[in-house]
Amino acid sequence: MRVAMYSTKPYDRRSFLAAANPAGHEFTFLEPRLTAETALLARDATAVCPFVNDDLSEPVLEALAAGGTRLIALRSAGFNNVDLKAAHRLGLAVARVPAYSPHAVAEFTLGLLLSLIRGIHRAYQRTRDGNFALDGLLGFDLHGRTVGVVGTGRIGALVARAFAAGFGCRVLAQDVAPDPALQALGVTYAELPRIMAEADILTLHCPLTPETWHLVRAETLALARPGLVLVNTSRGGLIDAEAAIEALKSGRLGGLAIDVYEQEADLFFEDLSNEILPDDVLARLLTFPNVLVTGHQAFFTREALAAIAATTIDNIGRFAAGQPLGAAGVTEAAVVPKT
Ligand code: NAD
Repeated sequence: MRVAMYSTKPYDRRSFLAAANPAGHEFTFLEPRLTAETALLARDATAVCPFVNDDLSEPVLEALAAGGTRLIALRSAGFNNVDLKAAHRLGLAVARVPAYSPHAVAEFTLGLLLSLIRGIHRAYQRTRDGNFALDGLLGFDLHGRTVGVVGTGRIGALVARAFAAGFGCRVLAQDVAPDPALQALGVTYAELPRIMAEADILTLHCPLTPETWHLVRAETLALARPGLVLVNTSRGGLIDAEAAIEALKSGRLGGLAIDVYEQEADLFFEDLSNEILPDDVLARLLTFPNVLVTGHQAFFTREALAAIAATTIDNIGRFAAGQPLGAAGVTEAAVVPKT
């Protein structure tokens, strides 16, 4: 099958070329992001292989379908960028990589939080400049703190487990489908207002859906314990970044660590170091000493890249052979929360 891969970076090309491809699917590695303008590049490719910031809105899907595409084989777990209703109407199958390495994201989440609250990233810069002073680096123990975990699926469950069983934190979780294994570990499920009132740290691991968009906004932050540290390695749209800025200014938020940002599509994965940052909200966030931003890096491990390539090639193979996509298949029902 001919496959047009969008948003290709050198590491994507390497991992796909290194993966077993027994059916010999023919990949065209395209650097541009998928947009209405670049959809034409996929002409005659039966499958299109996009990443997290590619545009899979209705007009783009229409252009792809008109060019002969039958399968959208996402290289990501999240599928919030796909208009599933339009895909269904156009007869486009959608597949994703449900679990390439939840460990990669869970471990990064912990690393991001620890860096932020202990000032490790700042110490790295200081010591290289010969500054070994500790002023401004005072942190706090995680042990005994209350951590809120929103979304206890593959990634959130690992994070909740690490906090509860590893660091000795009290974990309050929220999910539409509570996990009995976490409850057995002492994790308590609660509604968001209680979590906001009691948590010292809040970490987000639910998908971005119409229900979870701006889950953290002015009203939610008003319920937070002053000094709450917020971590988001899920999707940027879960947080209203302007409300987060106000909460940082007032001290309601004591810290913010984000690997994702709602308007990241035109910024992340690119080197813009020689350009003027066009996003004033992100620029303001980057001025706070208690904000740590990474560029959608949580997934980025050798294991995850290999698993993304293997599962994506498997998804394409299944589709080509007329086999069911199984857990990798994404249907419109997938966006309806479990009850
Ligand atoms: P998952 O599907 O295993 O878990 C998501 C959990 O969220 C499920 O338990 C689900 O019941 C729950 N949920 C759904 N709606 C909810 C709601 N309204 N409130 C609370 N919980 C709700 O997914 P996962 O593999 O754990 O991934 C979680 C998210 O992490 C993905 O959706 C993706 O957006 C993000 N992600 C980010 C990166 C990165 O590099 N930063 C990498 C992979 C995944």
